[in-house]
Amino acid sequence: MIDTIIERAHIFDGTGSPPLACDLAVVNDRIALIGDLSEHDAHERIDGRGLTLCPGFIDVHSHSDELWLINPRCEGKILQGVTTEIGGNCGSSVAPLRGLAFERKQEELARYGYGEQWNDLDGFFTLIERNGVALNVATLIGLGTTRRGVRADREGKLDRRESEAQCALVREGVEQGGLGVSSGLIYVPSRYADLDELVACARQARDAGQPRYVSHLRDEGDALFEALDEALEVGRRAEVAVQCSHHKASGKKNWGKAHDSLRAIDRARASGLTVHADAYPYTAMWTDLATILPKEALFGGREETLTRLQDPEIAAGLVFRLELERADTWRDITIAGGLSERNARLAGLRMDEIARTWNTHPARAALRLLIEERLEPQALFFSMHEDDVNAVLSASFTCIGSDASARALSGVTAQGVPHPRTYGTFPRIFSRFVRGRKTFEIAEAIRRMTSLPADIFGLANRGRIRIGAYADLVLFDAERIADTATYERPFSAPVGIKSVLVNGKAVVHNGAITGALPGRALRGGCCI
Ligand SMILES: [Zn+2]
Repeated sequence: MIDTIIERAHIFDGTGSPPLACDLAVVNDRIALIGDLSEHDAHERIDGRGLTLCPGFIDVHSHSDELWLINPRCEGKILQGVTTEIGGNCGSSVAPLRGLAFERKQEELARYGYGEQWNDLDGFFTLIERNGVALNVATLIGLGTTRRGVRADREGKLDRRESEAQCALVREGVEQGGLGVSSGLIYVPSRYADLDELVACARQARDAGQPRYVSHLRDEGDALFEALDEALEVGRRAEVAVQCSHHKASGKKNWGKAHDSLRAIDRARASGLTVHADAYPYTAMWTDLATILPKEALFGGREETLTRLQDPEIAAGLVFRLELERADTWRDITIAGGLSERNARLAGLRMDEIARTWNTHPARAALRLLIEERLEPQALFFSMHEDDVNAVLSASFTCIGSDASARALSGVTAQGVPHPRTYGTFPRIFSRFVRGRKTFEIAEAIRRMTSLPADIFGLANRGRIRIGAYADLVLFDAERIADTATYERPFSAPVGIKSVLVNGKAVVHNGAITGALPGRALRGGCCI
């Protein structure tokens, strides 16, 4: 017996081919039949006339991680048509957790009132399977997390024992289902890894059967090309595929550089290296406010940094330097979240506005906020030009990654004023870059969200509509699908998506969340 027939939709198979108007049948968790199914019986029929049906979107750059446990319904993602998320990006992952990495994760979990613990990826995935989750989840192994596990947040080269311990953690993580390794080379402690360390870890991933190095580059602005070279060099030396995360040219004086960095990636690809990128369709970044601090301020980790910021002499020097460097760019920084109750009302305000409220310089206000909130504040940095964003999106090797976690539209995971990409990334590709700027045709946009990422990350039987594939599906109105989340009002669901199926079960039906949790942990890209 057929569970669901979706009737007469325009079916895009995810490969970039033109659509076919026909019926599609789902039996259990798979696509069972495609064609004229008008004579078949089914438990449920969904009218797809005038609508587009394609494989569920794969968010290659998610930061959901532990939020999959805290908010298993993942509303903000499934409402966008996302059916699989890859977490563990930017050097930070849910496992393996040792030493300080374990302690920090407990702090984060305590903030959400979550009581379960785990040390390794298998333990985490087991909790996911026990709890249920709305979409499929997979993860990279974060090299900031593994480094923190063996050397806390101290800078400097790892000694032999530490290096071996880190490699063992990477190995463990990949053997338990990690899809490769990720680095976040602007964050403590991932930033302290040198080329040798990155290569050694990427080799572990390769030897364990997941040859992927995913990198938030060491610099996305003034030193973008050098930073990109470093990532490509890791790929060459470790013989792994390279993924350039949220690729961009950041900072006004670097606008236009994306064209050259894309050419550099083209050259590397022509030389035989496997390189891809991902991007989100917005001109603002969203990251820690602490990333404005120079490296001298960050040495030693959080406690040492906080002590330093509270030293009047050091603070005066930092204020002088930040005012000089940042000059008139404070108005391009909006505080988004990571605030305790005492400062919660500052969410959504620009740094220059906060400074005025506090009757001080923006740099001094930023330091005060970092101290009061223990380096936790997150901020939006309006630092990109849309022509660069468009250039990155137009490259055939770029897939789509939200760089955001799966949050609800209200409640504990929806605090502050987060980046609208949290709720709008995938629909916005259609409204602004397919229909608006005509960056690509719809079939190509779909390919970048489905078969391309499935192939890059080795997600077995996903990302394509074909008989026998998992029934991860999105049914939407191609003329109407759009984001509605804005920088001012991010908690807003997209429009134009009728149904979303994960492993054959509807998680969104007639535009509403069903509450079903049919997602699976994809260990090594597969599910058991
Ligand atoms: Zn990042």
